[in-house]
Amino acid sequence: MHVGILSETVHGEHRVAATPQTTATFVEWGWQVDVESGAGVAAGFPDHQFTEAGATIVDGSTARGADIVLCVTAPDQLDDIKSGSVLVGFLDPFADSDLITSLNERGITALSVEAIPRTTLAQSMDALSSQANIGGYAAALLAASSSPKLLPMMVTAAGTIPPTRALILGVGVAGLQAIATVRRLGAVVYAYDIRPETREQVESLGARFVAAPTEEMDEGGYAKEVGQDTQAAQHTALAPHVADADLIITTAQIPGRPAPLLITEEMVATMKPGSVIVDMAAGSGGNVAPSQPDTMVDVAGVHIYGPTNLPAQIPHDASRMYARNLVALLERTRDDEGHKIDLEDDIIGGTTITHAGEVIHPRTRQLLGLPELVVEPTEAVDEEVAEATETTEGDSE
Ligand code: NAD
Repeated sequence: MHVGILSETVHGEHRVAATPQTTATFVEWGWQVDVESGAGVAAGFPDHQFTEAGATIVDGSTARGADIVLCVTAPDQLDDIKSGSVLVGFLDPFADSDLITSLNERGITALSVEAIPRTTLAQSMDALSSQANIGGYAAALLAASSSPKLLPMMVTAAGTIPPTRALILGVGVAGLQAIATVRRLGAVVYAYDIRPETREQVESLGARFVAAPTEEMDEGGYAKEVGQDTQAAQHTALAPHVADADLIITTAQIPGRPAPLLITEEMVATMKPGSVIVDMAAGSGGNVAPSQPDTMVDVAGVHIYGPTNLPAQIPHDASRMYARNLVALLERTRDDEGHKIDLEDDIIGGTTITHAGEVIHPRTRQLLGLPELVVEPTEAVDEEVAEATETTEGDSE
């Protein structure tokens, strides 16, 4: 079994899909690891560390030609990836239909970490969570280092400096980490999420929950889109908190939908010059009306950032966590012959987007405009695919 570790091709992507430590695990399993030369350098893992862990340093074409190919985001060229091999990474299956179609046409089995079920059993593989956690931390550091103010209160001979007032909107994995980080830096923190159960989590971190509308959610813990009335009520309730905030981090997302608008242009206009906003949802429509992906927008002295790949700013530890997520995922595919994609396995079946020349993930099929997979086990679609269709129905997305 050959595992290929790719150098990332997207600009600004400094993470890598394996570390010397996870390489050593694959070697212990009896797998041969081919690392593309320089793949880990930007994350602080030079080639010699992979060699010492038992890997071979190879060129890109050789790494792409492995049986299992690991990446952070999909490589820009798929030519050397063999039909029947497995590609694992953030493959953006709910947005990048061209990539999924190309992978399928080439007979590549695509395992996309965005589709890993968000269950307790799959926690060790949950790359969305591991990277969102780092993203929340990086957002807090970006906001703090861009602010012209100190975060903690300081009582000095030169006078008393009041603490920064921070507001965190959206309290999932990234928001909770952002709260914890700005609290550690000394800010007074207010936070809000549409899900009522987040109040307790916010308060347990020493922040105050903002009184704004909440709604019970029933989509596997994820938030749904709210109606116009609720959105208007949110804006009214949040407006005074936005006006008072020195630093705001927004993280609200709805899987597969544009991000909800939480801060309007009118609300930004009430903020003090020198205030900072980091909109972590800028890449999916934005929580803040004026934010732009990967650009700083200055609205009358309020600096609004829209970073779309914060985990890549902390590449060493982001890679360590991501690489461990991949080991936990691949561990489930091990068998006596080395490796098997068992579509009946809830986690592997739910994570597999394409296999044996079919797009098997129900939600991806829907987004590609493909009809529901009709199963005829005796024909071209094999039984494995047929069974996977049943097991992946209704799985987490
Ligand atoms: P996410 O990135 O999809 O969204 C971030 C936050 O935005 C969420 O907390 C969501 O409620 C909030 N949000 C969405 N619309 C909003 C609106 N209009 N106003 C205010 N807030 C809004 O979330 P995530 O961090 O991926 O977590 C999603 C859920 O999955 C959470 O319930 C989390 O606890 C759960 N989860 C479970 C597991 C597990 O069981 N293994 C692992 C990770 C996450």
